[in-house]
Amino acid sequence: MSIVGEVKTWNPSLPYEILSLDFAARLSFSSDSVAAVSGDFGGMVTGDPAAVLYPASAGDVVELIEFSYNSSCPFAVAARGHGHSARGQATAMEGVVVDMRSLKRNGGGIRVSWSEALGFYADVGGYQLWVDVLRASLEYGLAPVSWTDYLYLTVGGTLSNAGISGQTFRYGPQIANVLEMDVITGKGEFITCSKHINSELFFAVLGGLGQFGVITRARIVLQKAPTRVKWVRMLYDDFTKFTRDQEHLISIDDGLDYVEGSLVMNQSPANNWRSSFFSPSHQPQIASLISNHGIIYSLEVVKYYDDETATTIDEELQELFKGLSFIPGFVFEKDVSFFDFLNRVRSGEVKLRQKGMWDVPHPWLNLFVPKSRILDFNVGVFVDIILRQNKTSGPILVYPTNKSRWDDRMSAVIPEEETFYCVGLLHSSGVNEWGELDSQNEEILKYCDEAGIKIKQYLPHYKTEEDWEKHFGKKWKTFQQRKALFDPKLILSPGQRIFS
Ligand code: FAD
Repeated sequence: MSIVGEVKTWNPSLPYEILSLDFAARLSFSSDSVAAVSGDFGGMVTGDPAAVLYPASAGDVVELIEFSYNSSCPFAVAARGHGHSARGQATAMEGVVVDMRSLKRNGGGIRVSWSEALGFYADVGGYQLWVDVLRASLEYGLAPVSWTDYLYLTVGGTLSNAGISGQTFRYGPQIANVLEMDVITGKGEFITCSKHINSELFFAVLGGLGQFGVITRARIVLQKAPTRVKWVRMLYDDFTKFTRDQEHLISIDDGLDYVEGSLVMNQSPANNWRSSFFSPSHQPQIASLISNHGIIYSLEVVKYYDDETATTIDEELQELFKGLSFIPGFVFEKDVSFFDFLNRVRSGEVKLRQKGMWDVPHPWLNLFVPKSRILDFNVGVFVDIILRQNKTSGPILVYPTNKSRWDDRMSAVIPEEETFYCVGLLHSSGVNEWGELDSQNEEILKYCDEAGIKIKQYLPHYKTEEDWEKHFGKKWKTFQQRKALFDPKLILSPGQRIFS
C-alpha cells in the first residue's frame, strides 16, 4: 500500500500525536487516499476525512479509536467496507476513515467449522465481501442461507443495515443469521459478543448503522449448499393478484427458497442491470403487455435443487404454482448454477462499467411498506407518481417478507405488521440530474406520510433528529442508551447523521 502522494495541509481536527502511534505508517494524508474514500456508490454526497487508515490488524483499529476516545477533542472514525452506501454513510468528515478492505490485503481469512451446538458456520472478517464468503464456503459444499441481491458488499456493511433479498421471508435477514461477532466499540474496547455474551452490544450492532462498534469478525450460519436452481418469472397485469400470489408463496412451509418481484414498464424494462432474464424473443410480447397496461408486474421465484432432487424438482414447482393468477403463457424459466444465481447482478455491473454507466449518481429509496397498505401504495406511488411522472430510470423491486424472522432486540427497524413489503426504487441518473429523482423520492415519502402509510426506510437517511426519532419509534430510547454505553463520545460512523 503506497501512502505517498500529494499531502494535504495538516488538518487541526487530528492531534499531531497520532503520528507517534504504532499504526502511523499506515495512515495516509494524501489527496488520492482522501479522494478515494470521500464519495460512495450513491455519488451524491462527499465528505473529506483528514486521513485514511489502512489497518494491518484489528489492533490498529483498537489503537485508533482508543486514541480518539482519550483525546481532549475526539475525532470521527468511520469504518468503510466497500463504500456501497448511497448517502455518505461511510464518510468521516475531518476524521479518519478506516479502509476495512486493507485487513483482507493483510491476510484475513474465512474459516469454516462445525460444532454439535452450532452446526456449520464460518468465521469471516467484517471486511470480507459476501462473494468471497460464498466461494470459500462452497469449497466445503456449504453456503450462508441469507443473501443480498448483489454480493460485492462487505459483511460489516450489510450487517450494519440488515442484508435482505428474496430469501429473507424464509431464512430471515442476514442479521438474523449471525452467531457471534468481534466488535471494537467507540471506547476502543475489543469485545466478543453473541446472544448469550455481551448481548446488548450484539443486538445493538445488528442493524446498528455502524453506531456502536466496528465489526471485525462475524460468525455466519452455514447450511448444505444446493448445486443448481430453477429460476422462474411470471408476469401479471393486476397488482392485487400479483401481491396475493406473492403472499401465498411466502406462506408455504418448505416451499420456495427465494421470492421477489418487480415492476416492468417503459421506464423500468424487464431486463436491466440487476438481471438480464428475458431472451430477445420474449421482448415483443412483453412490450405489447406494457403498451396495453402501462405497468406489469414480474413475480420472480427460485427453488434450489441438487442431484438428489433433480428428478422431482419440476413436479414440486408445478405443485407450488397451482392456482397462481399470472397471465396465461407468461411464465419463463431458467436453470442455472447456485453460484450464478446468487451472483446474478455482477454481469450487469460489468456491462455498465464498460459503458461508463456504473459510477453515476444513484438516488435510491428503499422502503418497508406494511402489507395492509400495499394496494394503496401501488395506486398512490407506482401508478400516480412513478408511472405518471415518467422520471424513473432503474429497477423497482417489490416483494413481501415476514416480521417473525427478525429479532426485535436488534437495532434494525421494520414495520409493526407481520407481513411487510420491501420496495426498492433503484434509480440511476446523469451526473447533475439526480435532484429531480430525489424530489420524486421526497414526494413519495410525503405521500406516505399524508396517506398514513406507516413505512420505514431501509438504508435510512434523514436530516433531523426528530426524523430519526420517528424512524426508530419505540426503539429510539434504546438506540440512544446504547449509543451512550458503547460510543459516548459520538466517534463512530458520523456519516449516518444520526447524532451530532
Ligand atoms: P459501506 O458503504 O462501506 O458502509 C455502510 C455503513 O456501515 C457505514 O456507516 C459504515 O461506517 C458502516 N460499516 C462498514 N463496515 C463496517 C464494519 N465492519 N463494522 C461496522 N460498521 C461498518 N442491501 C440489501 O440489504 N440487499 C440488497 O440486495 C442490496 N443490494 C445492493 C446492490 C447494490 C448495487 C448496492 C450498491 C447496494 C445494495 N444494498 C443492498 C445496500 C448495501 O447492503 C448497503 O449499502 C451496505 O451498507 C453496503 O455495504 P458496504 O460494505 O459497501 O458498506
